[in-house]
Amino acid sequence: MFPIGHASISYLISQIGRKPKHFGWKDVIFIIFCGNIFDFDFFLPPISGFPNGGHHYFPTHTPLAGIILFLILFLLFRKVFSKHTFVLAGLAMLSHLVLDDLSYWLYLLGLAKEGSPQIFWLYPFDPRRKIEIQNFFESYSEEPIGNEYFVKRYFLGAPQLFVSEFLMMIIAVLVLARKVVRGKKR
Ligand SMILES: [Zn+2]
Repeated sequence: MFPIGHASISYLISQIGRKPKHFGWKDVIFIIFCGNIFDFDFFLPPISGFPNGGHHYFPTHTPLAGIILFLILFLLFRKVFSKHTFVLAGLAMLSHLVLDDLSYWLYLLGLAKEGSPQIFWLYPFDPRRKIEIQNFFESYSEEPIGNEYFVKRYFLGAPQLFVSEFLMMIIAVLVLARKVVRGKKR
């Protein structure tokens, strides 16, 4: 999924529940940031010798990394944000991994033409990861894979995902617009 999809769902997550007194735009931005935090490793492949587009195979794109990142953010910002904000931020992080793996789940359900595991939930004990990285490098040696390949596969391989990403964006914009029209501050 693209950053816009993760940002949209994170924004919708930020609107869940009854907001505490000091909940404001900084909380919403923090939750959206957490919902996208895993994708900062997108810039790592070129400096790690890994082919482009392979950032889902990185240890930084796993639940274990999510727990570590969450704990760091909690220690840094525990005086800035409420428990409510941290719960939603954790939920936004979890939603990122679920949405990244959704194409594979659709494939398992027979709803997508192709798919392979994207998130290795039990890392470092997920045996699928080694096999998938091997497959990734094998297909790369046959034909160099770039980011364009993944973008093309995303649109053609799992159009449901693209459609749901688009819908989530529309819903997020509508929720935001309603809030602006009503003059709400958060
Ligand atoms: Zn991701």
